[in-house]
Amino acid sequence: MQKNSKNNELRGIYDNVMLPNYSPANFIPKEARGSRIWDQDNKEYIDFGGGIAVNSLGHSHPDLIKALSEQSKKFWHLSNYLSNEPAINLAKKLTDLTFAENVFLSNSGTEANEAAIKIARKFHSSKNNQRNEIVSFQNSFHGRSLLNISLGSSEMHRSGFEPLMPGIKHGEFNNVSNLGSLITKKTAAVIVEPVQGEAGVYTASKEFLKELREECTKQGALLIIDEVQSGIGRMGSLYGYMQYDIKPDIVTSAKGLGGGIPIGATLTTKVIGECMQPGTHGSTFGGNPMSCAVANEVVSIVSEKDFLNDVLEKEQLFLDLLSEFKTKGIFSEVRSAGLWIGCDLIDKTANEVLDQAYDAGLIMVSAGSSCLRLAPALNITNEEIEQGINLLKEVLL
Ligand SMILES: *Cc1c(COP(=O)(O)O)cnc(C)c1O
Repeated sequence: MQKNSKNNELRGIYDNVMLPNYSPANFIPKEARGSRIWDQDNKEYIDFGGGIAVNSLGHSHPDLIKALSEQSKKFWHLSNYLSNEPAINLAKKLTDLTFAENVFLSNSGTEANEAAIKIARKFHSSKNNQRNEIVSFQNSFHGRSLLNISLGSSEMHRSGFEPLMPGIKHGEFNNVSNLGSLITKKTAAVIVEPVQGEAGVYTASKEFLKELREECTKQGALLIIDEVQSGIGRMGSLYGYMQYDIKPDIVTSAKGLGGGIPIGATLTTKVIGECMQPGTHGSTFGGNPMSCAVANEVVSIVSEKDFLNDVLEKEQLFLDLLSEFKTKGIFSEVRSAGLWIGCDLIDKTANEVLDQAYDAGLIMVSAGSSCLRLAPALNITNEEIEQGINLLKEVLL
């Protein structure tokens, strides 16, 4: 096993100048193509992390490079005083392909969720309706702003940042028994992930989302589906909600939408969106032409039926190859939702395995302290999958 290579000088500078809120691997990447990354010492890694479900088409995809470089020669930024063609095309595409009729463009999942909650409250207040409570769920993750850590439930994410945003209730994910008391005439909106990714890839049951939809409709609350991680083909459909027989009121999208370039989108209907008149909300960089040019390309590729079918076939290949780790007592459980896989470790911590995997030449991410999370590029090749799993065997078997 080639020892984990380190560029100690650069890494030393990192530790000195960066806020210490992350603890990245001690090698520093130099270049990446497809699902392979090379570090400063030219050591090769297979990328099963996909930049946390962001690099939906892998690294250096030629169509994305082309879209970016063509737009880079036209203009980079105009501001929202002017509109731009890539943003218009992207919004048109997203509305053609989903339940939505209106799109708000931003730069991240956090911002997409912030806009969703603001739209929901504005919608009710524009109807002179006093309801403003938000319902979210235990173990959910919605981002790191003060609003979003208040929606989420991680103690680590919240501790020391109080006071949190008031008016938020937390229900139990996948529990349909008390939705009646959770969602009331005071509820402005319910926000839920179709699959809780940060929690370790836990899928919402069909019954849960259906009952949530029904209860929201009954009480007049809006249903917001946070598809920041689940969207853009991750689950084998363009958006996760499409696998459930429900129509959301608002969907938030980011991560994979840009294939590696920062972008967020909040999708809704005209009836709801109408409350957001000029001046009510905005973003300096939202709708950036460079980001939108790339996202257009990503959505065109990922929304193809054949592409989405391949995602499900690759999920199966992963599951077949990972079953050995279960029979050999390494994983207690393997959960998946498309190319999104959570593996619960039995006697090791996720951090320890991530470090050992770097030595072996494999990149993964974690979810909590004992779950390995795989969220590779959706176009990862079968060969890359097999190679990566062999590296994981070197580490764990
Ligand atoms: C990553 C994530 C977010 C936050 O997105 P950022 O781009 O990091 O702000 C929100 N919701 C879910 C479900 C996510 O996975």
